[in-house]
Amino acid sequence: MKTFVFGIDGATFRLIEKWKEKLPNFNKLLRSSVVGDLKSTTPPHTALAWPSLLTGVNPGKHGIFQFWKPQIANYGQEYYQSSDIRYKTIDQLFNEQGKKAGMVNIPMTHPPESIDGFRITWPLFNTLNYTYPKNLGKDLLFNKVGFPNDLVTMYKGEDNYDEKAKKYLSNRSKSLEYLYKNYEWDLFFCVITEIDRISHNYWRYMEDKEQLESKKNAVFDVYKEVDNIIGDIIKNLDSNTIFAIVSDHGFIASKSNFYIHKFLIDNNYMKIDNSHDNEGNGWYLDRVDWGSTKAYMPAPGCYGLNINLKGRQDHGIVSRNEFDQLCEEICELLMRVKDDNNNNIFKAVLPNEVVYLGEESNQAPDLILIPNSYELMVHHSIGTNELFGIPDQSGFHDMDGILILNGPMFKEGIITDCFAVEDFLPTILYALNLEIPNDIDGRIIEHIFKDNFLKNSVPKYGYSSKKKNNYTLSSTYSKEDKKNIEDQLKVLGYL
Ligand SMILES: [Zn+2]
Repeated sequence: MKTFVFGIDGATFRLIEKWKEKLPNFNKLLRSSVVGDLKSTTPPHTALAWPSLLTGVNPGKHGIFQFWKPQIANYGQEYYQSSDIRYKTIDQLFNEQGKKAGMVNIPMTHPPESIDGFRITWPLFNTLNYTYPKNLGKDLLFNKVGFPNDLVTMYKGEDNYDEKAKKYLSNRSKSLEYLYKNYEWDLFFCVITEIDRISHNYWRYMEDKEQLESKKNAVFDVYKEVDNIIGDIIKNLDSNTIFAIVSDHGFIASKSNFYIHKFLIDNNYMKIDNSHDNEGNGWYLDRVDWGSTKAYMPAPGCYGLNINLKGRQDHGIVSRNEFDQLCEEICELLMRVKDDNNNNIFKAVLPNEVVYLGEESNQAPDLILIPNSYELMVHHSIGTNELFGIPDQSGFHDMDGILILNGPMFKEGIITDCFAVEDFLPTILYALNLEIPNDIDGRIIEHIFKDNFLKNSVPKYGYSSKKKNNYTLSSTYSKEDKKNIEDQLKVLGYL
């Protein structure tokens, strides 16, 4: 039995439900599948959530907390790569049980690792080395379908991105079709990212009454194009194939940025050294006066704070003895911050080992800030005069990703609200009667299975999926690679 997973970065039922009458393929699937929100990671972010979905473990085990590693002694930028994911991914688990896998365009899977099957990775800088086997890219080009890496097709601030996104999608659709028709696979897992980009940048036009009538349907049009692709894929699958649609997080209209460094400066936890103005490579932490700084946000979008700890950070000034007290002090102050309507902005501020469970949790930022709503971004900018500001992006990630699951063993047309990203992997392995690792966090969601399947199938738990060191790649990013990644993330609005 084959499994086809169609990943849609940032898809949300908030929009699909509203538009379902005009999205015939989604609509049909909603009536005939298991359907439910797929709870994302904390925070709901691409870099954490896809690895959780691929491994069945929380970030405290897989060890990915952003595009950048938060615990870097010199406050600089170090990017995660595929080998940093500490648990085996779904394709590796399939391979170990004699099944072939194809993984296409999935965030955090670069550089390519060798598998029994194929991979097109998701590099953050320009490179031609993003496929396994190496000649896969050439084969696609030779057959006039190609697969430009995802940053080539990313939003770069252009006015006509909405038009481009539809073209990219129709090209992607041809490439995917070529791959699933011409390559062997038991698992085909692809991700498309255009819905995430259009939602970040065009959400505002959906409700915009006066200006830019022409952009009003931009987000819908991209959903519509995705609906067409889904229709094409389904036509090509036999009824015995498991077909799943998943997203890593949902989306919500943005409301405000909370400038955490302004908060830290106002409360004497941070100082800026303006004499460094023209030095450094533009990384936002370059101007910090570390000798007078007790706390800082270690990576954009991480919703976290680090304590500038002696012996851990290069210029740490906080001793181990002071650590807990300082964390408590900062938590208390943050929990009192209110927005314009006099509402608290944070639901909780928690130590990393409370939010994440596992041996990597101390590699997360020391404190995790959980807003009452992800309409609020904890922003990394340094040097703002205000504590709050209007975001550039009109859509932000939210906790509710999507799950649509279809296959002969699943009940039809049922709605479930108990899925989290970690539950996807064990549920799929169980559906296929494959062995399930015994050290993952996700659970099999049993009530979505037909009764006779449950009766006849005993879950096979067995082995550990924690990677041994021999999975680690020795290569690291070069200085030039890092510069390229930074340029790309700036364009995407992450920096
Ligand atoms: Zn995402």
